[in-house]
Amino acid sequence: METPLFLYNSYSRSKEAFKPLDEKNVRMYVCGPTVYDRAHIGNARPVLVFDILYRLLRYLYKEDNVTYVRNITDIDDKINAKAFERGVNIEKVTEETISWFHKDMDFLGALRPNHEPRATDYVSQMKDMISKLISSSFAYSSEDGHVFFEVEQFSDYGRLSNKKLNELKEGVRIENESTKKNPLDFVLWKPSNAEEPGWESPWGRGRPGWHIECSAMAKDILGDQFDIHGGGIDLIFPHHENEIAQSTCSNNMKKFANFWLHNGFLKIEGEKMSKSLNNFLTVFDLIKRDFSGSAIRYNMLSTHYRQPLDWKFERLAEAEKTLIKWNNKIDSKNETELPRQILNALLDDLNTPQSIHEMHHLFNSKKFDELRNACMFFGFSSKDIKKNVLIPADLSEKVDKLVEKRNNARLSKNFSLADKIREDLLSAGIIIKDIGQETTWESSQKLKIKKLREL
Ligand code: AMP
Ligand code: ZN
Repeated sequence: METPLFLYNSYSRSKEAFKPLDEKNVRMYVCGPTVYDRAHIGNARPVLVFDILYRLLRYLYKEDNVTYVRNITDIDDKINAKAFERGVNIEKVTEETISWFHKDMDFLGALRPNHEPRATDYVSQMKDMISKLISSSFAYSSEDGHVFFEVEQFSDYGRLSNKKLNELKEGVRIENESTKKNPLDFVLWKPSNAEEPGWESPWGRGRPGWHIECSAMAKDILGDQFDIHGGGIDLIFPHHENEIAQSTCSNNMKKFANFWLHNGFLKIEGEKMSKSLNNFLTVFDLIKRDFSGSAIRYNMLSTHYRQPLDWKFERLAEAEKTLIKWNNKIDSKNETELPRQILNALLDDLNTPQSIHEMHHLFNSKKFDELRNACMFFGFSSKDIKKNVLIPADLSEKVDKLVEKRNNARLSKNFSLADKIREDLLSAGIIIKDIGQETTWESSQKLKIKKLREL
């Protein structure tokens, strides 16, 4: 390869030339979703960022030589709490959430990884790893059925997150009832009560901690050592620090992943996304508002993956217009060669904003064939670009509220009000669709903005 791929490695805190352990078997593991609720657009960021890296690795090393694993965390106390809150069993929550996740990420044009292991299928591998850690004195069990990893036994602990053990000790919360030797020690296995999901083990009936799930799945599918491990920046500590500790110590001190990549966080209109601020936005919310998957991708990739991303609806609408403009000029021939300037931008630590900038250049200089190739690579497909009328964000919120009002009316059996809302919206060009439990809506070609404002 003439110009190597440079990636910023969080482990060395520098950009390094990427060289796979084996060019015929390039391996990447990315931490996937904990499946208890619909994916929010922050969750979509690592999916889209690592989708671009996956596409680039396939471009550079050929499709058959790249293995991408993204796990599904289907054992987690948040899932148990959700099942309890909804009064349904755990599988109902996880199966439903996984199918939503697939639909949403497919809509965004993300390629499916080669493997999507679920934690529930790897409990025996987790138990093996824990046993090995205990027998080599990196972990210990306590009488109440917990197993902890003893961080002081691993001299590199804190290296990824650039933290010293003493500093970490100062920040840690002391739990009164804990049976840990040291407050920094973390859980590998914990006991389950009769209502909680549990598996038999040498330490009694219990369930694994979150960190060991990824270590065991990565080892089983990719081996003790592999090339790239990714996830959001919030996972550096403690999740990835703990994965490194467990995997290194149970794999005869072999280096775990060579490159650690982390995407920055996403905010909405300048604010942290949270349910309490009422600005929590799921991918499905965007789909309902009739934005195209390509425009969402474009908007996400317009910011470099390591920078914080400020999600703005105004920009999403601009993205939609740009893609319509481009797609009007390009054909659908299937050619894969990437224009050199775009490849160069990607080789420089996945510089997607620069790539998009170059795509504008290609459009302005009427190089539509090259633009088409770049659009194909980026998954800015012409298929899903909607040529319908765009609806302003405030009106879209208004429609959401009316739809919710209608759903509440239906629940309280006030069908005349529910029908009236539906009719009113229809007369303003908004079509409501009830699919199973979900209600979606779309703006038709007959959208009447003025009428909608008056509703
Ligand atoms: P979770 O399901 O919470 O474990 O998160 C799945 C992935 O989404 C992880 O890689 C997180 O780091 C990432 N993530 C969660 N929230 C955000 C956010 N607001 N911005 C960017 N990435 C996020
Ligand atoms: Zn993980």
